[in-house]
Order: sequence, then C-alpha cells, then structure tokens
Amino acid sequence: MDGKAARRKFWGWGYEGGGPNLEQQAGIARMLGERLGKALPAPLPEPRIEEIELPEVRVRPPAALAGICSSAPLERAGHAYGKSFRDVVRALRREFPNPPDVVARPRDESEVAAVLDWCGSSDLVAIPYGGGSSVVGGVEPPREPRRGVVTIDLSALDRVLEVDRTSRAARIQGGVLGPALEDQLRVHGLTLRHFPQSFEVSSLGGWIATRSGGHFATLYTHIDDFVESLRVVTPSGVVESRRLPGSGAGPSPDRLFIGSEGILGVITEAWMRLQDRPRMRASASVGFADFLAAAEAVRAVSQSGLHPTNCRLLDAGEAANSGAGSGAESVLVLGFESADHDPAPSMARALEIARDHGGVVPQGAGRTRTDDAAAREGAVGAWRQAFLGGPYLRDLLARLGLVSETFETAITWDRFPAFHRDLVAATSDAVRRVCGAGQVTCRLTHVYPDGPAPYYSVIAPGRPGAQLEQWAEIKAAASETLSRLGGTITHHHAVGRDHRPWYDGQRPDLFARALFAAKEALDPSGILNPGVLIG
Ligand SMILES: Cc1cc2nc3c(=O)[nH]c(=O)nc-3n(C[C@H](O)[C@H](O)[C@H](O)COP(=O)(O)OP(=O)(O)OC[C@H]3O[C@@H](n4cnc5c(N)ncnc54)[C@H](O)[C@@H]3O)c2cc1C
Repeated sequence: MDGKAARRKFWGWGYEGGGPNLEQQAGIARMLGERLGKALPAPLPEPRIEEIELPEVRVRPPAALAGICSSAPLERAGHAYGKSFRDVVRALRREFPNPPDVVARPRDESEVAAVLDWCGSSDLVAIPYGGGSSVVGGVEPPREPRRGVVTIDLSALDRVLEVDRTSRAARIQGGVLGPALEDQLRVHGLTLRHFPQSFEVSSLGGWIATRSGGHFATLYTHIDDFVESLRVVTPSGVVESRRLPGSGAGPSPDRLFIGSEGILGVITEAWMRLQDRPRMRASASVGFADFLAAAEAVRAVSQSGLHPTNCRLLDAGEAANSGAGSGAESVLVLGFESADHDPAPSMARALEIARDHGGVVPQGAGRTRTDDAAAREGAVGAWRQAFLGGPYLRDLLARLGLVSETFETAITWDRFPAFHRDLVAATSDAVRRVCGAGQVTCRLTHVYPDGPAPYYSVIAPGRPGAQLEQWAEIKAAASETLSRLGGTITHHHAVGRDHRPWYDGQRPDLFARALFAAKEALDPSGILNPGVLIG
C-alpha cells in the first residue's frame, strides 16, 4: 500500500486499504477462534462516513481563519477519537456524539497563535492534535455541551527546518509524522531513531507531549532524552528554551512541557538530539523455560552497563501470538547496533549472561550483520513483523467482536516478581469473570537498571453490544491492582482522560497544585484540553 497517497481512516488505525486483506482476515479469525475455543462471527462492516450522524456545528471560524478551518463531516468524525480499543468500538457502533465543531490546520506558528487567540476570546476549547494516536482519550473533546471545540491539527507543521551536523541535532516542526521525519533526516545520514509502535501515524509534538517510549529498550527509552530545546505557543505567549547539551540552571523549562499533554501550550518546534544511522547490527533470540528466570536474566543485562538497543522479553503467550516462539517458552529478543563499532563483544557478553540464567541460545545467534535483512529473519524478524502489523490488527479484533486491548506500567526489580504474579492473577480473574475465557500475556518493552516496564495484552471473546463495559471492568481491575502494588498507571501511553482516577492518586498533592499554577499562568482562560491530565 502506498500509505502517503491513501486517505486516513476516520474510524480506526492508519490509512484506508491498509492492514490484512480479506483472506488474511479470515485466517486470523480462524486462528483466534481456535485459541479462544469459540468460532468468531464475520467481522463487523467498516463504518462509512455517510452512515455517521453528527451533532450540529456550534461555532464558525472568523473570516481570517476560515481558509484553514473545516467542519466537514469526515474531518469532524476523524478527529473525534484517538485510537484506543474503546475509540474503535464506539466508531464501529457509529457513535460520534461529541466531535469537534471545527478542525483547524495552521500552516505556521502565527496561525497557531491566531487560532488560540480566537479560542480564548470566544471561550472555545482548543485541542492540540498530532497523529491522533492517543490511547487514553487525550484528543477527545470534553463533554461540555455549552462550549464549542476546535481541534488544532498540526499536520501542516511537518518540516525539518535546520540540521546541525556538528552537534548532531535538528530543529523540527511539531506536527511531522514519524515516516516524514525519518525521510528528511535520512538524506543527512541521521536518524531520531524513535520508533513507537504508532510511528506511522504519530507526530514529534505528540511524542513530546506524551513522553512516548520508542525504539531503545534501554538507555534512551523515552523521547525526553532526545529533547535539546523546545518552542511552545501558549495562550499567554511563546516559551522558547535555550539549546544546551545539559544545564544545571534550575528546574528544566523543557521538562515542564515534556508530558504536558496539550494542556499548557502547543509544541510547534523542537531541537532534537539525533543519532548516526546504525550500520552494524547484531540480534539474537534466547529461549527460556520460565518467564521469571528470564526476567532475572534481563535484570542482569540491564545492570551490566551493556545497554542493548533491543531487550524485549516476551512471555510464552506473547511469543506464540507474534510467531517468535512455540508457546511453550518465553523468548528474549536481544539487539545491539552501532554506526561506529562492531557490537559483537557486547552481544557475546549479553548472551553469556542469558545462558548463565538458563537461556537457550540458538547456534550462530548474535552475529554482527551489516545488511538490512539482519532484523527481518527468524524469531527476531517474526517479532518485528508482528510489531509493525499490530496497529491494523487491533481494528480487526474489535470488528470480530473481541475484547482486545493493552495496558502498561513500570515497577522496581525488587517488587517485580510478586507484582507481576498478582497483576496477572487479578487481570485474568477479571477476564474470566467478565468474558468467560481469554488470555492475558506480558512482554517487557523497556528495562532500566532498577526495574522493567511490563506491557500486558488482553484478548477475550466479547458479548455483542457489551465490549466496552467488559473492557472497562477488566481495565479497572488491572489499574486498581497495579496502583495498589506501587506501579505507575502508565509508563509511556500517557494519562489523558482515561487514566485520571489513578493518576490523581499517584501524583503528589503539592505537585498538583504547582501544575495548576503553571496552567493558570500559561492558559489563564483554561481553553487547552480541559479534563486531560488535570482539571
Ligand atoms: C497502535 C498503537 C501503538 C502505540 N504504540 C506506542 C508506543 O510504542 N510507545 C508510546 O509511547 N506510545 C504508543 N502509542 C500511544 C501514542 O501513539 C503515543 O501517545 C503518541 O506519542 C501520540 O502521538 P500523536 O502525535 O499521535 O499525539 P495525539 O494522539 O495527537 O495527541 C496526544 C496528546 O498530546 C497532545 N499533543 C499532540 N501534539 C501536540 C503538540 N504539538 N503540542 C502540544 N500537545 C500536543 C494532544 O492534545 C494529546 O493530549 C500507541 C498507540 C497506538 C494506537
């Protein structure tokens, strides 16, 4: 599929025509039916925009902004939701009761400021929108019947403006989507190398606003580490931080906006730290009979100072679902890469650690390769393929009437074994109670010397018309349990609206007051994303 030429789907992931074809869909449905012990119905038909009833538009833009604003049904419906399971199911039900009234597409910073001025003077809600891939209700309009809503789609701010080859950094506009960003950096032999699973349709500004987690499983996990400076348009004016490799001058202005989820201002530009494009890669998959023994191996690797690029541990179920394993064993996908030196010694030491913890390393695994095919073969390649195809698959699972969603957290190593056991037990109990059957699987997506970030996937048969309520009950059970056990409500998916009850409990009260004070200073009329993160 030529993604760029195609039109974005208004109701689900990605581009029209993307994802599995009809034959593949049938195969997936058969395979899942066997796994869940229940034949699945034919997939629900995809919604068409002609079928969607939208409420009346409540506001019209001033003449000066009319050229960059639209209230066309496709635009309003396409910006009504993010891309969570809940969002897709509501779209499949043809339910769009609360779309934005207007979608504005500013072409430069002055137009961003003009849209914010309009919203401020007319008491309208303004929602910054990058790729719209939020899975936590971060771009969904609030239910405030009296206030009009303007979604500020930043997709026209899509350029790399300046490259500093010496410092290996670039000034980049906030609305650029992952592929367009990498295309512009490739010609300079550089890369941001930040590949969240939503890479195809998520933006630099969105990554920064949500503290997204990307390609690197260790060391540079969050986008935070790549931000050198920021430029943010707020309703009170522009905030621009100084480009510095590091600074001890008080609290970091960048850190105030990294993770601010569109409530303080619109990130229009960022200077980002870049990487040389890697030329040498070594990858290996290691089998383990026991998941927690494998986690001990991962802890040892994470504390070794080796910093693998990839260090993703899949439990047996995850390994089977992605085709990286048989379902009888856990699989550790290890990878090292470099533009400068052969990573073979690092890989050799990591494999030695894995073996010491009972890992079975296939013959010849971990060789350094300089061809691009290296990451596309064997169990490592199967995992990568499943990772890339995953976003489109989620829409199909919702259409097949399943309950299918993920949640993620982080916890220190000392508490991880008991935390994982209790969280899986509580979530599995909820799945059985609510759905009768189903599967809860786990992978470690990012690992730190002091703890892992476990990521859980749930797949279960849904009751027609009740998928949302079923998922809400499972999600609440999981969130209550992981919060009680001391984990974070999110490691990289952000807070949005959906995680508010647990985030409010996790966040120190005085910090909340300081955040409200910052909001008051930057957005005194409270137009930006009310209900997201705070408020
Ligand atoms: C299939 C799938 C896979 C995913 N995989 C990952 C993953 O691997 N890692 C990960 O971290 N997340 C992942 N996510 C979640 C999501 O992609 C991230 O939160 C991403 O960073 C959002 O970027 P976006 O551009 O789509 O932001 P949006 O969804 O448009 O917005 C997210 C939030 O940021 C605000 N915002 C957006 N742009 C700006 C801006 N320029 N200035 C100020 N505020 C702004 C919005 O108001 C909103 O609150 C995944 C989501 C899906 C659907």
